[in-house]
Amino acid sequence: MFKSAFFVLVSFFCALILHAQSEPQKSPPSGTSSAAQGLQKPGKPPTDQAPPPPVPETSPQAETETAKPPIEKNPPPINTNDMDTSVKPQDDFFMYADGGWIKRTEIPPEFSRWGSFNELIEKNNDALHEIAEKAAKSQADPKTAPELQKVGDYYGSGMDEKTIEAMRTKPLDDELKRIDGVKDRQGVVKEIAHLHTFGIGAFFGFGSGQDDKNSSMVISNAVQGGLGMPDRDYYTKTDDASKKLRDQYVDHVAKMLTLLGEPATAAREHAQKILALETKLAEASRTRVELRDPQKNYNKMSQTDLQTLTPDWKWADYFKEINLTEPGDINVHQPDFFKAANATFTSTPLDDWKTYLRWHLINAAASELSNDLVSENFNFNDATLRGTKQIKPRWKRVVLSTDQELGEALGKLYVADYFPPEAKARALELINNLKEALSDRIKTLEWMDDATKQEALKKLAAFGVKIGYPDKWRDYSLLKIDKGPFVLNALRAENFEANRDLKKIGKPVDRTEWGMTPPTVNAYYNPTMNEIVFPAGILQPPFFNAKADDAVNYGGIGAVIGHEMTHGFDDQGRQYDATGNLRDWWSAESAAKFTERSKAVVTQYAEYEPLPGLHVNGELTQGENIADIGGVKLAYAALQKALDKNPAARQQKIDGFTPEQRFFLSFATIWKSKQRDEDLKLRLNTDPHSPAQYRVNGPLSDLTEFQKAFNIPDGSPMVRSKDKRVNIW
Ligand SMILES: [Zn+2]
Repeated sequence: MFKSAFFVLVSFFCALILHAQSEPQKSPPSGTSSAAQGLQKPGKPPTDQAPPPPVPETSPQAETETAKPPIEKNPPPINTNDMDTSVKPQDDFFMYADGGWIKRTEIPPEFSRWGSFNELIEKNNDALHEIAEKAAKSQADPKTAPELQKVGDYYGSGMDEKTIEAMRTKPLDDELKRIDGVKDRQGVVKEIAHLHTFGIGAFFGFGSGQDDKNSSMVISNAVQGGLGMPDRDYYTKTDDASKKLRDQYVDHVAKMLTLLGEPATAAREHAQKILALETKLAEASRTRVELRDPQKNYNKMSQTDLQTLTPDWKWADYFKEINLTEPGDINVHQPDFFKAANATFTSTPLDDWKTYLRWHLINAAASELSNDLVSENFNFNDATLRGTKQIKPRWKRVVLSTDQELGEALGKLYVADYFPPEAKARALELINNLKEALSDRIKTLEWMDDATKQEALKKLAAFGVKIGYPDKWRDYSLLKIDKGPFVLNALRAENFEANRDLKKIGKPVDRTEWGMTPPTVNAYYNPTMNEIVFPAGILQPPFFNAKADDAVNYGGIGAVIGHEMTHGFDDQGRQYDATGNLRDWWSAESAAKFTERSKAVVTQYAEYEPLPGLHVNGELTQGENIADIGGVKLAYAALQKALDKNPAARQQKIDGFTPEQRFFLSFATIWKSKQRDEDLKLRLNTDPHSPAQYRVNGPLSDLTEFQKAFNIPDGSPMVRSKDKRVNIW
């Protein structure tokens, strides 16, 4: 699994997702969300390079079946065993609804957090495992069964541990030689460009993306990047914990270089130089909060102007090497970064550049190499940064890598066996009901004027909807996948993706494309497409259950749908119009009122303190929080409509709970989760989503509907005072 896929990422720069991908690192543009953060680690937070344990030779421990994570088979839609009724709903609804599960559950050692999303992802992984194993055994003919052959050989090469161990870093020899052979600064440009064609994010990111102000066209994008740690703040913060982490990073880089054959002393010196170079890039990078402003990230310029901005970096050489004959105008997301990068480019000695490039190559490829590299990669990116205790078994890492590199080939095989057509029809019905609820809500908003309401309704009516899997599957026929070595299959797959991405530049947008693979347990809204997308993977319990009553489904997938719809109208999404253009369609007065109301969201969440002294970043998380609050509220309104049509259901209590109570219990069930402190710390810095307990208690404490459903007195912890309550959508 490669660490950087800038190319893919950029094209989904603005998509907003339901849940930050973590553990099983899925699909490309789920990287979306991290996109908005600056692309250091596009699709993949570093954590998920999931590598093996420090046991080289034969079958490492993790391979021998690690204890299966505890997942209950066929639990009831609302599992009362998961509740902790010693906690009152008005005091802490998250603990009331999920506390029983939280008390009895241990986070499995190979995870940094564990909850409903992970349980379902694990279930999907088992399905994908079976598909991949079968494919590997089938010896399929590439002509008659191309997907089966590619999935089978890719997976098989990743499972061929003997060859992987025997070859160690040898498959990268040609690439390493290229780097060694760089003789001058022009050579550095060419080599960085070359690594970009393998999705390796050295120095900065470049790729295609929709033109924010002409959303029917795809243009070139240049974005800040080039770091080895998850965020610029890791390089710039001066507290003791951050300093310690930087020391650990230097140790890690040095170890990786040693594994490439460098003597220990030289490796340490090199690691320090790498940190120094990356620190310069980090200092010139915008923070994640700054990156939330799409207007600031829109700086379209001609090639001539771009060349003037970075006089020493020869773009013509760069474009030639990535085989981009007509780059057209380029959206330079962070001009100040590129200005500073130009200075760094000239001031950094040639040898340091070579060291830096070696590091980024090995860092990106580590998880496809031998166990020594895999486990060192795990030690820093998973154990140190996220507190994960144990590496995932090989099969799981390779399945995830297959999903990453051949997502729509594997996905095609997956939906054929695992996605019932009824799920699509039922999901569509739910989406339409949620749309109606949002439309009702917009019409009656007290703070928005009529002209702005008309535009908002136009935008809602234009929402595109994708469910399950793409109508048009990706054509992988030009990608060669063979029996190995594994890392070369991965490199070719990354190269295929980078080329596919670059070929879109200058062309009209292909509206059939998907930004997540079908098995992904997630969903997204893409503002430049103005569409909401729900992969097959999430249309299963506990999110969606064909056998459950409406209350459960509206509280689960209904709230997810509402969340994605609200993204079209959160602090970022609202800046795009019905056709996906970054255009201000708001009256000044309505915009001012929106901003005032969204400030209440920032204030509310900034009060939350998940770890002593560490608060939720209210600015960074505001879009997701607005979507969480709006999503559950809209789903509730849609449930009321459904119950109006079914009066018998309205009267029916199950396990002693009314439909309204079951709705909120179901909502809390989807956020059932436990997390290691290290992971929590990392996410408080980088994740635009709030921690799980606040994704439940935050929105519900704003909702009168919740207060009513559980008969909660004013002044309770789960009821915010009326003057502080958030009420936007
Ligand atoms: Zn979201």
